[in-house]
Formats: sequence, structure tokens, C-alpha cells
Amino acid sequence: MGNWEDYVRKVEPYVPGEQPDAARMIKLNTNENPYPPAPGVLRVLREYDGNRLRLYPAPDCKPLVEAIAEYYGLKPEQVFTGVGSDDVLAMIFLTFFNAKQPVFFPDITYSFYDVWAGMLRIPYETKALDEDFRIRPEDYYGENGGVIFPNPNAPTGILMELSAIRDILDHNRDVIVVVDEAYIDFGGESALPLIDEYDNLLVVQTFSKSRSMAGMRIGYAMGNERLIRYLNDVKYSFNSYTMTQLSLALGVEAVRDRAYFEETRQKIIATREWTKGELRGLGFTFGDSMSNFIFARHESVPAEEIFAALREQNIYVRHFNSERIRNYLRISIGTPEEMEALIRFLRGWLA
Ligand SMILES: *Cc1c(COP(=O)(O)O)cnc(C)c1O
Repeated sequence: MGNWEDYVRKVEPYVPGEQPDAARMIKLNTNENPYPPAPGVLRVLREYDGNRLRLYPAPDCKPLVEAIAEYYGLKPEQVFTGVGSDDVLAMIFLTFFNAKQPVFFPDITYSFYDVWAGMLRIPYETKALDEDFRIRPEDYYGENGGVIFPNPNAPTGILMELSAIRDILDHNRDVIVVVDEAYIDFGGESALPLIDEYDNLLVVQTFSKSRSMAGMRIGYAMGNERLIRYLNDVKYSFNSYTMTQLSLALGVEAVRDRAYFEETRQKIIATREWTKGELRGLGFTFGDSMSNFIFARHESVPAEEIFAALREQNIYVRHFNSERIRNYLRISIGTPEEMEALIRFLRGWLA
């Protein structure tokens, strides 16, 4: 037998939340948006001329890049798009995290960061959140090869103030700082205005959560033109045509409909606040989530038991079997009806 096994890139892959296919289920396990995409998105999808699929899509993703730039008042040269923010973040790791010093990120955070670092052989060091699951900016002062964190953080939902992000940036002028804003549209303040001041800041967002398009795979990064140029150089060295014709066409429509975006995100925020009150009444405790999920534990019943009981009912939530958070459940915010059903079941079951 040959020893080809020695030359395999062996990796510890990311484990996504399950996508069950039950007819009647309440799916609160992957932070998807319970509302459909904007009406314009659905219209363009219905009317799409399939013959256009013969052609390669625009390699520079121009229509979508321009729509995003216009929405945020940026130049197109300040916007990079990819196949979900997972693709954008992977490109960022590949492009910017090349130092000998470790990249810093929180111990409890998006569990893809250590997977990319592992796959790309990037050294990293995790920084423990405090007792209340807050990021301590001073932990990020030391010499490092880059900094990345979500804001609000996942899976905790805890938001960091812009002043704390500024503090981290002020102590990290020589490396790239990435703020992963997958959930920023649910009540937080974006770090986007800081990109003019800090040429080493990248702000990453996605259409998967607040724009109801997880299935279409659209993510984007915004930052200084030089950062975006370097990202594009790596992207073109990897795969010129990352985004499909359809992603570009539908993405543009999603960005254009500001009213629908505003309406659906306000509905989710209102449902989240209602759910917080109900969960509190049932003996759950949690930090003040500013995302489209609540990361909660119960005062007396272990998370795993609640998880199993909910699953029996075809109510799916997420449980992470890792240190410090084993006794928590991450519950995505669905429609008011879905959240009422969840609360109704818990009220009976916990009684
Ligand atoms: C959901 C999520 C992403 C990735 O979303 P995409 O669907 O790939 O755009 C990135 N970061 C965090 C923190 C997330 O929760």
C-alpha cells in the first residue's frame, strides 16, 4: 500500500445545523428568516430567462456590487461579494491572515473560524469571553496576526458597542480587523462608518439572515479599496465565477426593496422581544440578544433534555456540545405563531 495518506490535507470540518425535511416542523435551529424574500426577488425569479444561464456570470459581480455600494453610499471599489459570507470570510482568512503571530478571536464564537484557521494552517489564539459572555477589548491588545469577531457575537447574541470596536482597532493598526456583522440588522450599530478612518477594517455582512436569502448564498465585505483589491486578486486566483447569474439578479432586487427589509426586520425584533419576556417567565436566563436568536439556559432543566423534548415535537433548536455553553440552547426567532407554539409547549412541558 502506498503512503498517499501522508499527503492528504486532513481537516476537522465545520458541522452545520441540520436541515430536517419534516412536513410540519418549527425550524428554529439555523437562524434563517421566517419571512419570504422581498416581492421583487420572487418576481424576478419567476420571470427569469433561463436561456441566460448559457453565459458565464459577470466575474466582477458588478450589478450586485453596485447595488450594495449604492445602498450604503460607498464606491463599488469598496465592496466584495461572495457565495454567502462563509465564502467571503474564507477568502479573507486566505488573503489577510498570513502572519506568524496567531489570529485572535473569542473562545465562544462562530465555530467556522477555527475550522478555516485549521484548514489553512493559520495559527490562532482564542480569548475567553467574560462571565456575561462579553468580549473584553483589552484581550485583543497583544501582538497578533489579525483579529476577527462577530458583532453581535454568535451564538451569544451579545452586541459590542462601537466604542469598544474602536478601542480594538486603535490597538491593532498593523493587522486586518474583521467584524462579522451577520446579525447587525437586528438592532446593532454597524462598524461600517469606521472604514474611512481605519484602512485595515473589513465589515462582513450577509443576505442569509436579515434578507431571507440563505438558500441563494450571498455575502459581502466592505472596506478600503486596497483591501477589496487584494481580496479580488485572491478570488480570481481561486475561482473567477463565484456568484451565479441568478444570485446576482436576485441579490440586486433584495437590496432595492428598503421598505420590505425594514418591515420584516422590525417584525423579527418585536417577536424577539416578546419571546424574551415569555422565556423569562418560564425560568430561562439569557444575555440581551440583539440578533435573530436567543441563547438561553433554564434555571433547573438541562439544555439537552429540553432539546430532546422539543425535537420530539418537531421543534428544532440548536445545541452546542462544547465547553462553557453545553447548558444553553440557541433559539432562532420565527414567526409570532411559531414562537407562540414553542412557548405553549414549553409552558406545558416544564409545568
Ligand atoms: C450565519 C453566519 C455566517 C454565514 O452566513 P452565510 O449564510 O454564509 O452568509 C457568518 N457569520 C456568522 C456569525 C453567522 O452566524
